[in-house]
Amino acid sequence: MGEIKIPVVALRAMTILPEMITHFDVSRSKSVKAVEQALKDEQRLFIVAQKDPETEEPKQEHLYEIGTVVEIKQIVKMPHNILRVLVEGLFGARLKQLKGEEYLEGLVVRADPQDFGSMPSSGKEAMLRNLKEIFKGYCENSRKVGKDITRQVLECEELEKMIAQVMVHAPLSWEQQQSLLETQTMKERYEMLCIVLNNEVEIERFRRGIQEKVKARVDKNQKEYILREQMKVIREELGDEGPGAEAEQFRKAVKELSASKEVKERIEKEIQRFLNAGSNSAEASVIRGYIETLLDLPWDHRGEERLDLDKAKKILEKEHYGLEKVKERILEFLAVRKMLSGGESPILCLVGPPGTGKTSVARSIAHALNRKYVRICLGGVHDEAEIRGHRRTYIGAMPGRIVDGIRHAGVKNPLMVLDEIDKVSSDHRGDTFSALLEVLDSEQNMKFRDHYVELPVDLSEVMFLCTANDTQTIPRPLLDRMEVIEVSSYTENEKMHIAKDHLLQKQMKRHGLKKNQLQITEKAMGKIIHQYTREAGVRNLERKLASVCRKTDRELLESGKKRVRVTEKNLEKYLGKTIYEFQERNEKDEIGIVRGLAWTSVGGDTLEIEVNLMPGKGNLELTGQMGDVMQESARAGISYIRSISPEYGLEKDYFQEHDIHIHIPEGAVPKDGPSAGITMATAMLSAVLEKPVRADVAMTGEITLRGRVLPIGGLKEKLLAAGSAGMKTIIVPKKNQRDVEELSEEITGGLEFVYAEAMEDVIAHAFV
Ligand code: ADP
Repeated sequence: MGEIKIPVVALRAMTILPEMITHFDVSRSKSVKAVEQALKDEQRLFIVAQKDPETEEPKQEHLYEIGTVVEIKQIVKMPHNILRVLVEGLFGARLKQLKGEEYLEGLVVRADPQDFGSMPSSGKEAMLRNLKEIFKGYCENSRKVGKDITRQVLECEELEKMIAQVMVHAPLSWEQQQSLLETQTMKERYEMLCIVLNNEVEIERFRRGIQEKVKARVDKNQKEYILREQMKVIREELGDEGPGAEAEQFRKAVKELSASKEVKERIEKEIQRFLNAGSNSAEASVIRGYIETLLDLPWDHRGEERLDLDKAKKILEKEHYGLEKVKERILEFLAVRKMLSGGESPILCLVGPPGTGKTSVARSIAHALNRKYVRICLGGVHDEAEIRGHRRTYIGAMPGRIVDGIRHAGVKNPLMVLDEIDKVSSDHRGDTFSALLEVLDSEQNMKFRDHYVELPVDLSEVMFLCTANDTQTIPRPLLDRMEVIEVSSYTENEKMHIAKDHLLQKQMKRHGLKKNQLQITEKAMGKIIHQYTREAGVRNLERKLASVCRKTDRELLESGKKRVRVTEKNLEKYLGKTIYEFQERNEKDEIGIVRGLAWTSVGGDTLEIEVNLMPGKGNLELTGQMGDVMQESARAGISYIRSISPEYGLEKDYFQEHDIHIHIPEGAVPKDGPSAGITMATAMLSAVLEKPVRADVAMTGEITLRGRVLPIGGLKEKLLAAGSAGMKTIIVPKKNQRDVEELSEEITGGLEFVYAEAMEDVIAHAFV
């Protein structure tokens, strides 16, 4: 067949296939004119797709090569110069040439695909069935093709026709249609069609799968929503739980609360807010927590106090051994309270080494007064918020420790122990101390404000009692509000009594041991005290006894014995090897070595001071972790020695030609304070004069430049340490004589005291 000259219409994003009956709109003037021209001729047009739908004035290169010759069936004129053209595709054709000014005119040749040739009919039949199958699947899956059409297509019995029909009726994209139109053989067309349809089916299946999942999810949400709504109704029917019911309970609790009107009104307001917040919101749970805290606080609820001095005395005596001074002070304190009928009273602060029974005395006081006992540990607290709470805007906000303590006590008048008040520190985040001041100040603590609670909490009826190891780190204003009661180290005899009468009984009870099941001989107990513990208090002692009880429990069960007797000999079985050996004094009198006595917050200790002299330039070297005060005290000592050196016949420039090195062993332990003054001076003098110092002498005292000896503190602890180190003569400042005389015979017995007013007295007794 030859070339045909024919008007051409370029279509945007559309391909028309043979046998397709469809319409398209034209508005470009060239296209309109082409249609008009066709109407004048044979009613035929060559329709071809533009490669790029955006091209306005398409030339031949802008068009696909293959298009379709169509017959115009109907024209409708639409507004805005648009022609709607209904056409039927006749056959595929190839565009050979394109020209024309007014409208496009092309030379085209018919381009039918090559047929199946000599393919056997069975092969064609197979292909036909296959295509039908695919098309059927496609239609079922996509539901884009109407039922009638599907049936009509499936009725085709001829492969070529079937291909053409499927191409026309499957709603493929125009690109897919264009590709199909361009195929050169029927076989190729068939294969491409199968692939395209199969792909479509796959895609459709995926899409469905995804959609189903999405749908399932939506369904689930909906289901939950419905269930929740139902639950709400059920709850309402049953009249329990739910915010309404919870609020009701809160309201009931408010009625029963003994609190001021202000507090009750505040809680009522919060209950209203709670109701408005909706049942499950995060806000509701914050408000709930707040309401619960407010309801828990003992606003006006107080426990009954018993101010019976006799009874108090009995309880104190029964629960603690010794501590006479402490008990006396406490009883006085209680007497004053009674006279003032519970009015304002100072705050007691028990100060002493760890394990000396401070907290346990406090507990006894609570017991004696029949007050609830709460203990707040302040060790390591450095943030004001820990005392005063966090504002509720913080996530997870809580009341501070004080209010929390009150809440735990459940009454507004507990005895509250502020433990380790000397271990509080302040940092940039807020002043912990000023918060504590407010707590302890009777003028202010009637209206203590906690950031979380917001309402003023009345602390004026709380009885505060503080404990500390050392008063030095307690800020002055805080210390001024407190009445310090010193609790000192225990002597071995005291420890023995405490161990026998209290600790052992307590631990046996805790370990389920009956009175006759464990016996520890006095000697064994002495050994535990002496060689397994070294402390000011009795905490480790208690631990060791607990350990003996544990082992006893096991032994009784395993061996079937009736009782266990711990003696000095078998003690190792229970506690292992001894930990401490007796601290012996030096064997020999030596030059440049003197024993001093030290006080630390955990008890007394002896410390050896060594001095070496060597040729040099008059330098003074100090090692062994000495604090500033101690170093100054060493310098004062050296000045004193230089000032008296002529008396000892030393050469004038002796000190310019020698270096002095002072060292205190156990360098890991920081040491400070002035009380080693005379010790260092004596050691230096001994080194300078090359005269040995008595090994059984220990000393303590501050030195001045002129060699006067000033008094020092912590004598009891120091003397206990000196005693256990086996010292004989103790040199103490004259001004401390009274303190020594006040100490019990148990501490001072066996020690010889030298009371020194000046260094001369020290020198007279220290040197051999
Ligand atoms: P602190 O608070 O001073 O560190 P604790 O109060 O914790 O010391 O005392 C440690 C243990 O020693 C407690 O079990 C306590 O009962 C006991 N204890 C301390 N001193 C005595 C004493 N004088 N009489 C009886 N038990 C004591």
